[in-house]
Amino acid sequence: MSDWNIRTKLVHEGTRRSQYGEMAEALYLTQGFAYPDAEAAEQRFIKAGDDEFIYARYGNPTTRMFEERIAALEGTEDAFATASGMAAVNGALVSMLRAGDHVVSARALFGSCLYILEEVLTRYGVKVTFVDGADLDQWRAAVTPGTKAVFFESMSNPTLELVDIKSVSAIAHARGALVIVDNVFATPIFSKAVSQGADVVIYSSTKHIDGQGKALGGVICGTKEFVRKVAEPYLKHTGAAISPFNAWLHLQGMVTLDLRCRAMADAALKVATALEAEPKVTKVIYPGLASHPQHQLAMAQMGTGGTLVTFEVAGGKEAAFRFMNALEIAKISNNLGDAKSIATHPATTTHQRLPQEQKDKLGITPGLIRFSVGLEDAGDLIADLKQGLAKA
Ligand SMILES: *Cc1c(COP(=O)(O)O)cnc(C)c1O
Repeated sequence: MSDWNIRTKLVHEGTRRSQYGEMAEALYLTQGFAYPDAEAAEQRFIKAGDDEFIYARYGNPTTRMFEERIAALEGTEDAFATASGMAAVNGALVSMLRAGDHVVSARALFGSCLYILEEVLTRYGVKVTFVDGADLDQWRAAVTPGTKAVFFESMSNPTLELVDIKSVSAIAHARGALVIVDNVFATPIFSKAVSQGADVVIYSSTKHIDGQGKALGGVICGTKEFVRKVAEPYLKHTGAAISPFNAWLHLQGMVTLDLRCRAMADAALKVATALEAEPKVTKVIYPGLASHPQHQLAMAQMGTGGTLVTFEVAGGKEAAFRFMNALEIAKISNNLGDAKSIATHPATTTHQRLPQEQKDKLGITPGLIRFSVGLEDAGDLIADLKQGLAKA
């Protein structure tokens, strides 16, 4: 791996050129590979070399370029790309756990992550303890010498609560547990989870890495030992592979990832600041604002508040819906990290399934809006939000 800086890595790292010397990364849309002779096929099944592939469920040259580029960005030895972010979360956890193992997880999770921890792992005899991710005392009490792994989102959905990666990793490592971090909201640009102690980092590349909401994808980043010996056998035999076409799209997305995330975060701070001055907004949650309870941690851990702003409109669900329906630039959808700004009403969509008691606990109120700031002009976005609020 090179010692290039991030922007250079994002443009060049992992590129493999064929005999034609193509400038753009090639899309190898093939499920299989022809061997020069039977002996070579036998040899490859014994041990495939770095440039040798067997079957696209195991690996593909385009997918490999994506894996090497994201591993270089993340600073991990290796990475395995998957069909979606959820295939990555499921693969990382299921591949390393067995019946009787214990996992500690933050409670504030993306709905599908919660399903895997609450419903899937427990079905196979894994014990799961949920904690309030921001409360280090709860982590200290829950992680025991028998705990195999801890899992958390470094910044939670939709209430943008941070988990202190350094401190939780220290607690986990002191008891021999592996630290698995879903770093999607914080982005690979802002959250350097591995250098802060995480062992395994997971992305849904569907979000910022794609950046235009085109295709699903995911990736597991970690040591060679974890990625190739623990995760890969499970992933390749259970069909978690990403389509080479999607890997190619996400490889292209990485070229502009740093520029886009920084532009979005700059605009997000402007949006959050403007919303704080709006009388119809009862609460603004943005880690980049001094009013956020974890502002200092956010600055130390990410150096920014990120690309999402969550806020509460006065007047509950009806006002929130009137506001969303009045928006002219931002779309009503549930993706994030897209070039197009997106407004989401978590209580009735992404978190609809949660019982009221759980929604209350997580602060998912009827007036709450999650706003993914896109690449539009910040002034235009603020004007759109203001005219929307006037109609709320
Ligand atoms: C979107 C998301 C996922 C799942 O990713 P998919 O690509 O949709 O499968 C997992 N975790 C977080 C925090 C997400 O935002």
